[in-house]
Amino acid sequence: MKVAESYYRATAPGDSYPALAGRQEARVCIIGAGFAGLASAMSLMEHGERDVVLLEAECVGHGASGRNGGFVFGGYSLDEQALLATVGAEQGRRLYQLTLGAVKQIRRRIVEYGIECEATHGGIYLANWFDDPRVLDERQRFMHDYLGVEWQRISPADFAERARSERYFGALYEENAFHFHPLKYAQGLARALGAAGVKVHEASRASAIEPLQRTSSGGARSGWRVATAGGEVVCDEVVVCCGGYIDRLYPALAGAILPIATYVMATEPLDERLPQALTSQAAIYDTRFAFDYYRPLQDTRLLWGGRISIRSRSPEDVARLLYEDMLKVYPQLAGVKVDYAWSGLMSYGRHKMPQLGKLPNGVWYGMGFGGHGVGPTSLAGDVLSAALMGELSKIDQFAAWGLPTNGGPAGLLAAQLTYWYYELRDWMRQ
Ligand SMILES: Cc1cc2nc3c(=O)[nH]c(=O)nc-3n(C[C@H](O)[C@H](O)[C@H](O)COP(=O)(O)OP(=O)(O)OC[C@H]3O[C@@H](n4cnc5c(N)ncnc54)[C@H](O)[C@@H]3O)c2cc1C
Repeated sequence: MKVAESYYRATAPGDSYPALAGRQEARVCIIGAGFAGLASAMSLMEHGERDVVLLEAECVGHGASGRNGGFVFGGYSLDEQALLATVGAEQGRRLYQLTLGAVKQIRRRIVEYGIECEATHGGIYLANWFDDPRVLDERQRFMHDYLGVEWQRISPADFAERARSERYFGALYEENAFHFHPLKYAQGLARALGAAGVKVHEASRASAIEPLQRTSSGGARSGWRVATAGGEVVCDEVVVCCGGYIDRLYPALAGAILPIATYVMATEPLDERLPQALTSQAAIYDTRFAFDYYRPLQDTRLLWGGRISIRSRSPEDVARLLYEDMLKVYPQLAGVKVDYAWSGLMSYGRHKMPQLGKLPNGVWYGMGFGGHGVGPTSLAGDVLSAALMGELSKIDQFAAWGLPTNGGPAGLLAAQLTYWYYELRDWMRQ
């Protein structure tokens, strides 16, 4: 099977931005043009701060933000029960509500900046993989009682009709959620930033972040020098938003996240075969730890994602694995061609919550959004921009989750073993 890489990249070539050349001065330098970096720049810009340089090693949306499933919904990678267990019911509810605000904010930005990103406002189903109605009962009750959120119950018969699959045992429907072409959204944000005067530089990998003493008319003041191969940015504040692609940029940060891969594929256009699999425009994921996530695309392809691994795989291997997963749910799609398959790296802190804060030496960071980061990165933009403007109450809400070490290669192996353990548990339960 011969497949191409990213459907998103193939359908959204995007604008191009010049590499950083020579020296630039700015109040803020943000490193990484994924959703976290873009959202931080957007929030600064919307609050009147345009003296910002955004450096991207490759191109806008190169990382997880331009490769993901496109699900836009509330919540964090840390599930809601665990969130409330960690910080208590009141604070947990407040933090969850912030992610619903982020979903609203993404909708607003799509409209306000005219971003054409195939936003499909058809909601999202959480489908029950297990023949056990308590899974949905408990989740629905928890969402309602503790978070004030109404997820509609869909009976097994009704859901079998909507999803055209006998595999599930009913679902919960999150009406407020939607899905979109994430790379087009990232490119739309970059365009809005560029139009407002924020400087975006692609092919500009930050290679060093160094403290420096600057002199201004008021005397010496502290700041930073961010170096790239072709130039440098001298700035008052620096924000690192490099997600799972941070590599060795800043050990104090890189050592606190695990880069974990997950996979996505897109079928050929299915035309009249699509309604054989889905009668709704909603996106679907399921109740397993190792869940599938999929959605119809506007050109009648089915985009299918799943699996978590520390291994990178070829597009052909990804396509083979996900195709088998798809047939477990939709045997009627046997024989359809897979046109695209790719993988992306998520960044996980050990606690699975976003890591938003400032190192003791003054470097700001926003990372650790895991596999549930579209909403939380938008929220992170608000939190970080407020902090950069001196308002710390928002960022303090995330102080409970610091930068515990990722444990190096042993940490990665432990993550893979944990995933296999949960996969096995899912399998035994079904
Ligand atoms: C396949 C996949 C599917 C997913 N599906 C969903 C989903 O459906 N819904 C959801 O909510 N979440 C999903 N997620 C998670 C979500 O995409 C991420 O949490 C989120 O996009 C993280 O954004 P980020 O800005 O932190 O990181 P990224 O998007 O990875 O951005 C980091 C950027 O930093 C750049 N960079 C790295 N080092 C440097 C350097 N030295 N100098 C300059 N730039 C640098 C990288 O090139 C990259 O562009 C998925 C993730 C993956 C991988």
